[in-house]
Amino acid sequence: METTHVLCIIWCLITFCTATKVNYSGHKVIRFIPHNEDQFKYVEKFQFNPGKVDIWRGSAGIGIPLDLSGNEDELRTVIGSFERFGMNPGVLMNDLQEGIDYQLETNKGSGDANADFDYGKYHTLEEIQGWIEDITKRYPNIADMVSIVKSYEGREMLAIQIRSNSSSNKAGIWIEGGIHAREWISPATVIYMAGKLLEGYGEVENVTKAIDAFDWYIVPVVNVDGYKYTWTGDRNWRKTRTKHLLCYGSDPNRNWDNHWCNGESAGGHNPCSDVYCGPKPFSEPVVKGVADFILSKPTGYFKIFIDFHSYSQLWMSPWGYTKAKPKDYEQQEASSAATVQALTAVHGTKYIYGPIASTIYVASGSSADWTYANASIKYSYGVELRDQGQYGFLLPADQIIPSGEETLQGLLTLTQFVQNNP
Ligand SMILES: [Zn+2]
Repeated sequence: METTHVLCIIWCLITFCTATKVNYSGHKVIRFIPHNEDQFKYVEKFQFNPGKVDIWRGSAGIGIPLDLSGNEDELRTVIGSFERFGMNPGVLMNDLQEGIDYQLETNKGSGDANADFDYGKYHTLEEIQGWIEDITKRYPNIADMVSIVKSYEGREMLAIQIRSNSSSNKAGIWIEGGIHAREWISPATVIYMAGKLLEGYGEVENVTKAIDAFDWYIVPVVNVDGYKYTWTGDRNWRKTRTKHLLCYGSDPNRNWDNHWCNGESAGGHNPCSDVYCGPKPFSEPVVKGVADFILSKPTGYFKIFIDFHSYSQLWMSPWGYTKAKPKDYEQQEASSAATVQALTAVHGTKYIYGPIASTIYVASGSSADWTYANASIKYSYGVELRDQGQYGFLLPADQIIPSGEETLQGLLTLTQFVQNNP
């Protein structure tokens, strides 16, 4: 072998091993809106099998946008097929990499060097874990740090437990963020809310009442491996980082043992797809860890479960696997209506509520279906936070605090609703 070949192989190995971040220059985010039954039927068919194109937001019906990301070659064929049904694309983001760079450039927070932790910016996993440790030490009378489980790559999934001594027989609330890695506003909003709950105890009336009434378990980042990877390898990563034969990761929100991998999407069984449901139910340690923790408590202990995602501004309840209505539909709808009304009252942000399957898309094996059906948590939700697609997953940091403020008021109203309608 010639020296140049050897050098070339060494160079290739070095660049592979120290792989830099995925670059999305030339990738776009586009939007189609179905305006009639025929167009929507095509959208549904496409969503079932999107090929290489990345679905940022799914459409659940006429008038509801479908947002797609891909490079120009990938999108060209897709656009052609949609145009045959009379749907022309709108452009949400002309260059995905510019969107990624903009979010990081503007991730400056309040700039207050004296603040212990800046709620107004996005933080790395290490910063978040450090904050959980610090804040639980700062409020030792009402807060504990709890390790829920270790991830596939060996990272701790940490929870903040908040409980006051008002009574011993309290119900639990489970709040989680960051199950999908790229949805950064989710951990950021959950962190803000946890911080304000701790700061507000004994100071703010509705916060004090909510903490006295429930035991809270708050997990800012469920998918710790995936979240880490969005900072170090691929900003657009969604799944866990489990190694399969050809590809990495399972969709942790298709991995729950309820109508698991029911076949709502062609990608469900494909390890390279973004919605791969995994080799078996609860194959992902982070998903199984949450489920085991919930089941370790007596049935009926947890009264509320919320899994925060982004984006689209939707407050959703079961079912995800079917468009059929669950038996607690009336109360679930009423709880969402009250929550959304309180949320919107803060900054005017509009949310739509309803069952998952008819609000976003049919999705089986998702968290809220399992917690409702298998853990008897009537008030289980999947929530899509800000925005409606202008920035999508790349929401600028100056929206973190407004998102936290409005979502916290929604959440506090929900706790009152659940106390009145157990
Ligand atoms: Zn999500």
